[in-house]
Parts: sequence; structure tokens; C-alpha cells
Amino acid sequence: MPYVLAGENYRYKEGRVYKGFKCERIEPIPDYELVSCTLRHLGTGTEFWYLDCNDIQNVFSIHFRTKPLDSTGLPHVLEHLVLCGSKKWPVRDLFYKMSTRSVANFMNAMTGPDYTMYPFSSKNEADFRNLMHVYLDAVFRPNLFYMDFLQEGWRLEYKDIHDQDSDIVIKGVVYNEMIGSYADNSRFFKQKMLNYILPSHAYGHIAPGTQLEIPKLTLEDLVKYHSQYYHPSNARIFCYGSFDLEKTLEFVDKEYLSHYEHIDTSFSRTPSEERWSQPRLACIQGRPDSSISLDHQNRVGIGLLMCDITDIQENFELKVLSELLIRGPNSPFYKTMIEPNISGGYTKWTGYLPNCKDTYFNVGLQDFADDDVELFEALFTDAIHRVSAEGFDAKHVEAILCTQELLRKQESECKRLLYRSTVLWNHDGDVVSNLKVSDMFATLRNRLNENPMYLEQKLEKYFIKNQHKLTLIMRPNELHEIERQHAEAELIVKKLEKTSDEDFEKIYENGLKLESLQKASQDIELLPCLSINDLQQPLPRPKIIELTLRGVPTLISQEPLAGLTYLKLMFNTTGLSLNDSMLLPLFCSVFSEMGTANYDYRQFDNVVRSRMARVESTVKVVESLTDSKSYRLEILMKTFTLDKKVYDMLRVCEELLLNFQMDDTDHLTMLITNYITKLTLDVGKIGHLHAIMASSALVTNAARLKSLMTGVDHIVYMKKFVQENSIEVIRDTLKRIGLNIFNRSNLRVAINTSEKNVSCILGDYARFLTHLPKTQQTINTNENFLLEPSSRYYNLDIPLSFCAKTFHAVPYMHEDHPALRVLAKYLTSKYLWPEVREKNGAYGAGARIGFEGLFSLHSYRDPNAAKTMELFDKTYDWLQTYSRQLDQQALFEAKLAVLQLVDWPISPGEVSIDSFVLGATHNIYLQYRSRLLAVTLDEVKTVIEKYFRNDPKHFGKCILGPNTDEMKVEEKPKKFSVISEL
Ligand SMILES: [Zn+2]
Repeated sequence: MPYVLAGENYRYKEGRVYKGFKCERIEPIPDYELVSCTLRHLGTGTEFWYLDCNDIQNVFSIHFRTKPLDSTGLPHVLEHLVLCGSKKWPVRDLFYKMSTRSVANFMNAMTGPDYTMYPFSSKNEADFRNLMHVYLDAVFRPNLFYMDFLQEGWRLEYKDIHDQDSDIVIKGVVYNEMIGSYADNSRFFKQKMLNYILPSHAYGHIAPGTQLEIPKLTLEDLVKYHSQYYHPSNARIFCYGSFDLEKTLEFVDKEYLSHYEHIDTSFSRTPSEERWSQPRLACIQGRPDSSISLDHQNRVGIGLLMCDITDIQENFELKVLSELLIRGPNSPFYKTMIEPNISGGYTKWTGYLPNCKDTYFNVGLQDFADDDVELFEALFTDAIHRVSAEGFDAKHVEAILCTQELLRKQESECKRLLYRSTVLWNHDGDVVSNLKVSDMFATLRNRLNENPMYLEQKLEKYFIKNQHKLTLIMRPNELHEIERQHAEAELIVKKLEKTSDEDFEKIYENGLKLESLQKASQDIELLPCLSINDLQQPLPRPKIIELTLRGVPTLISQEPLAGLTYLKLMFNTTGLSLNDSMLLPLFCSVFSEMGTANYDYRQFDNVVRSRMARVESTVKVVESLTDSKSYRLEILMKTFTLDKKVYDMLRVCEELLLNFQMDDTDHLTMLITNYITKLTLDVGKIGHLHAIMASSALVTNAARLKSLMTGVDHIVYMKKFVQENSIEVIRDTLKRIGLNIFNRSNLRVAINTSEKNVSCILGDYARFLTHLPKTQQTINTNENFLLEPSSRYYNLDIPLSFCAKTFHAVPYMHEDHPALRVLAKYLTSKYLWPEVREKNGAYGAGARIGFEGLFSLHSYRDPNAAKTMELFDKTYDWLQTYSRQLDQQALFEAKLAVLQLVDWPISPGEVSIDSFVLGATHNIYLQYRSRLLAVTLDEVKTVIEKYFRNDPKHFGKCILGPNTDEMKVEEKPKKFSVISEL
């Protein structure tokens, strides 16, 4: 695709007015092959930033500068209320309701530390314009109803809303969300670091709100705040893509901005933090984690204030400096803090954080031993002074620069450009210059050439002489949950002190009113909807070459890739013994971090970083798409590099595959410790995926293997395995795995590169293959079989449950699959969402069917697991009772929701990945898509009878739920076997 050129003949001109907007600045951005147009609305002064390019993917976003005035969570509750309906669209849960009337591939709303943004993206122009209308009406004309405030913000309510003798409790979506959110120690630590290092202005408050402050918020405050902060003069609008700009401008002007006058918005600015004259120390308390001994649960971190966000070059250089300090085995912090293996690794978000008016750097360790708190400061100082005295190693600097260059090049994906610009833009920074990444690299390289001590001097200024330094310590508090509940109880007592009989009556009435509002059906027909005529064309056919070279099946996709080449190697490992297979995930995580026979792990890290992106490897269990009767176990290795470095990349891969080594047991031990820590941390956030996986594991043996390799079962298995086996045993097993699998006989390869590049790389690629060993092909596939039904309850240290029920239906290629997928979407929006989320209080719920043919129902952050499991079992009854709801419109909406997924935009580096990994070629995709669009009501009714009327023969149920203490024991339904080794 030729990119838009900003020459003499460019369609827009600086100084001209287009539909009420004056064009102020036009600049080409060659790095991302686009043109930037900055426009300003004449009446309100609203800035409108347009990135013009030949991309069918179009993005729109509006954001407001919303600094918090306290920790009541006002901007956050407002973000929720905005989505509860507007003058034109009086419908709750706007995004969710739109998701079945649109083919958008992204809709979101986010509250940052001092901004709130509302972005979406779509490839369909009619859809794009519908969504823009919904978004703009929502933010500028929200209803902000009192009942929605009670629902989304906070309210007092009888525990049993029908019983005035029951206790009064506090409820509210944001109120509960924040209790859940800060139960995550990593998040809480990050929030506190921000509060303490930038304490004087907006960042001293907790923008999303805290449990004890949210109940101080009133609707009046919120309405007043909205009229001030959600004014067009305080808004910034972003637009990316190829749809007609003037049509967009005209709509924005005519429907919304022209109804407002310009206002002065200096009130919403966040000033800079005054620099400290001496370092500070703060201590906080966290939630205990039952899986680690209490004296090893400390978190320590150091934060250092850096520069103003609007100083673009400085920002960029500080990012590079930060990466040099923390990333990889050659960095000083890694050497002093990570390698001695005294903790569970860096705290999350360690690194450079350009999220506020003043940027800051932070580094921390988690799962740190109690006595070692002082040690941390010593480690920090030691690392900094050592590098200051010795200087940075030139090879390491080059490696980090190359990595950064590669990552910036890959960043061209439109949403990433938006995220990268939002904070800077919020503080009036020059977002256009910020996209000229080649200029920034050139400037830095020049400075390094002129002054070899350039980075060391920067280090001196920001890391040694900087007095704006915070040490933050978090210790576990065993009474955390009790104290939290106590504080909540006290708060309720206080709230009720001056409550009159009349007020109690109001609480009672509001509870009932909210319940009936939740039950009332909403007129979603008011919302705009795509019609069948608006549907876009299917994804374009990728240009593919398929060949077999040196016996290796190879798939080459020719895509415009802005100078990057992607390499994927897939090794079939099905022939490994079960015991060896179980260690594949660990193998994937460590084998490229251990160095090779010719380079130790530090040298090898520099070698990799200066030539290519780090190798990422994952385990794949790939079931047959046609009959579910067999599966393959494979590992997928991915990397990419600049076109000019493909030869180097292949050489590095060859070195790794032929000469990987596992002998350094100290280093291996450390990598394993970090691997296990990371496993523990991932449960809470994607718990529903784990629940689906764990319930699937009870249905087929391929799914069981998947869960044992990547799910909750993997955590149980690995913790036990590491405890029971010596490092020497683990080392030898890993070695054996590598020697067994890295050969040409069980390899498939995919390369994504630009058309002109193909002929240049084929020779190098063939040579690479020749050097790999060739052995006798072993087993290619394993038999997949169905298991007897069972149910499991996993006891976890989490406040709310994740539930799933899965049964075996039919795989992707079966003719019933599209109808089942449509039914899954229908059940999600019409049954599970209203019943499990709106009435039963779960944060989310849904149904899905996978490629492998497993149909799952699930809930997310669920306070009533037992009730939800019952609802899952009653799916067929509901379908019978409400069969009339299933009409043509409902069918079309469900199809749209499936179509969003089927036509999901694929980044150029991933084009043909389904074909490569699963065998789902473009023709299969086209067939599936047309079958999907042709699904009739009768077909859906047939699959309902066929798959839901009788209890499935092969199913699994699973709950990941809180520790079964006395209060919670009723949550566990009967016949569930309990697993509590986690
Ligand atoms: Zn929220």
C-alpha cells in the first residue's frame, strides 16, 4: 500500500478551515508511513489530531483532562456513569449493548491518573460513524441519573433487599471494583509509589477511588465536575485511518461542538511537582499471600523523579537509560538484585514510567525476606556506583539501542500510537515530534559519539545526585482482611448515625427500585445498528508461497511490513514422554536465557538484542479441526528483525538450537524461581480463562494436557515438581528435551516479510535448515479421547470466584460449529449477562465455543458461585421459556458479534498464523464465514435441541474460589472435589 504523501498536492492545507476546524499543522511522519494533521475547532478550541494513512483499520478517541480532587474516585465513577446512557441513547451498559450491533474490534473507556479516555476502532465506515455518535453523545450528554449513581458508585443497602431486619451493607460497582483491584498487591504498590513520589497535586490522590473514600462522593459533585471537565474546550479528539475526515469533522462540529462556547481550561492543569531537598521513606501494609511464608512477602522499591513529560528527547533518553539499568543479564540492577536469587524478581512495572506530568523511574523486588529490607538500598546504591565508576559496556548500549529501535518500529499499530501519545498530549506536549523516532535515535547516537560519557553523566544527574528519591516498603499484614472488614463496618455505623426512619425507608425503597430496574428490559432498539448491507468484505487473501525446503514445510506470507521480517519455528514435540512434556513450558521459558556453548548467557543476551527481538516460545496443544480425535503437542518459537538483519537472525537461531546449554545451575535456579513466582501472580486477572481451561481439562485428554501445561493445574504440578526434584535432575531433563526436539524432521516454518525481500532471504534460510540435524520422524499426533464427567473446586487466595462449565460439542470444521458459535453469543448477551452479571452480581459472564469443539459457560469475579453453577445447568430451561426472544434481529446481532471475532484484524507479522498453527487456511476461513452469515433461526433451534436438551455425556465443572473458611463454605456446591494445594 503506498502511503499518503504530504507534498504540494496534499488534500489539506495549513491555515485553511475545514467544517469549523482550522488546520494548524501538517507534517509527514515517515517512520510510521503517515501524515499528521493538527486541527483546532474555531468555536471551542478543541484540538483534533488526525493521523492520515491508508489503513482500513480506523481509530477514534476522545479524552478529557480529569484531575482527581480527592480519592473518592469521582473521575472513575463518572466514566462508569457516562456509559449508563445519554439523552439520545438512554440505555445502560452502552458499550456492551453496542457490542452486538457493531463490528468494532475495540471499545473501551479508561481512567488514568489525570485523564479519562474513550477509544474505539473499526474497519467498517458505517460502524465507525455509528460508534462515534454513541461515544460523543455519551460523553457530552450523559443522563447521570441518581439510580445509576447508586448502582455504579456506592449505596447503602439491606443485605437481603427484601428484608428490613437484615444488616445494612455498602454496595456499588466501583466500590466493589476497587476492593478487588487493591487486593492485588502489585497494583496497590504501584498506586502508592505514585501517591508518595508526586504527593502535592493530582497524583497524591487515588484517581480510581478507595474503599473508605468512595462513600463520600455525591451525585451533585459529580454533575458539577462533569459540566466543567467534560467541556469540549477541555477535550482532545484523536482520529486515525482512511475514512473521510471532513465528514467526521462536520459531524463533530454540527452535532456537538458548535453548541458550546470556548472556556478557559487552566483549572484542569496539573502543575509540576516541587523537587525535594532530601530522600523520603514510606511504609505500607499489603495483603498476605498464603502460598509464601509470611517473612518472605515484603516488597521494597525505590522511585526517582525524572523529567517533565513534555521534554521529548530527554524522556526518550531516560527510557533508554532505564532499560540499560534493568533489562537483561548485562544490566547492573539485574546483576545485583536478580541474580543473587534473594527474592521473587522485580516488582511489576519496574522501569521508566512516563504516565504523569513528571515522569519517574522505579525499581523494586517482591517476595523479599524480612531482614533484607535495608539490604535493598545497599544493592541499589552498589549497582549505581559500580556502573558510574566502570561506565556502561558499549556492546550492552548497542544491544539496548537496537532493541528499542526494533520495538519502536513495531509500534506502528494504531492503538499503540494513541496510547504512546495520550499522556504527553494531556500535558500539551508536542505529540507530532514525539512520533519522529528516527530523529530521536539519531540525536542520541550523535551525542554518544561526541561524548562517550554522555549516559554516565545522565546517570549522575538522575540517579546519584537526585534528592527526589522515595524508598517504599510494603509488609504483609496478617489482619489485612479483618481490618478491611472492620473499617467497612465502622464506616457503615458512621453513615447510619444520623439516619432517620425516613432514610431507612429510602434505603429499602431504593434497593427494591434498583432490583426492578435491573430486571426491566431495556429498549436497546434505540441504539444504532449495522445492517446486513453495511457488512464489510472478508479479510483480504494473503499472498502466500508454500514450499518444502530441505524437507521442511515452509509458509511465506508476503505483506507490507515497514522493513521487518518475522520468523516462526514450530517443532512437533508429540513424541516426548509425558514426564518430559510436562516440563516443556519451563523449557520454553528458560532455554533462550541460558546462553550457548560459544557464548555465556550475558554475551548471548547482547548478541540477541543487537540482532533481533528476543525469542519467545510457547507450548501449543493443537487439536484436529475436523474430528477432535487427535492432537499435536508443539512448541512455537517467534522472533523478528529488520530486513537487513535476517541473515544475523538466522545465525543466532542456529546457534541457539544447536548449541543451547543448561549447565549453569545457579543461573538456571534463578530463572526457575522467577518462573514459579510469575505463575502464582497470573491467577487473579485472567481467572475466567483458567476456569474455562480447568473445566475443559475434565472433558478431553488434550484439554487436560493443555491445563497441565498452562492452566491452574500447571501451577500445582510445577510447585510440587520443583520441590521434589534436585536442580541436577531438572537440568538433565531440560537438556534431554532440547536434544530431542530441535531437529529438521519435526519442524515447520513460517516467514512474514515484504514481497521484494523474499528472494534475498531464501538462500540464507535454506543454509540455516541444512545445518539443523535430521533424525527419524517419531510420533506426529496423539489420540484424543473423552473423559468421564467431574467437578472441581480450586481453593485460591482470591476474594471472588471464577466459574466455568464445559462440554464437548463439535470442532471448527463441523457444519454445526457456526450455529453453536452464534448461540454462544446469543446466550452471552441475552441469558448470562442479565442473569449472572446483572442479577447475580458477577463482574462478567459469557459463553464460547473453541476451535477444538469445547463449549463453555463462564463467570468472572463472581460473588455467588453456587447460584451461577445452577444457572449454567438451567440453560436449556431458559432457552425453552424465552424461545420467542430468539428472533431475526437477535440472530443478526449474535452473528455480528461472531463476525467481529472471525474478521479480527491481524497484525502483518501474524498474517496466516491460523493457517500455520491450526491448519485453518484462508479458504477454510472464507467457507466458515459464509456458513456463519447463512445460519438460520431453524439451524440455531436445531443445535439447541441437539446439544442442550439432554445433559451432555462429557462435561466438566470448575470453580476457582476463595479459601473455604466458615463464611464461604456454603459457596461450594455439592459433588465438587476440592483442590487446595495452591
Ligand atoms: Zn471501573
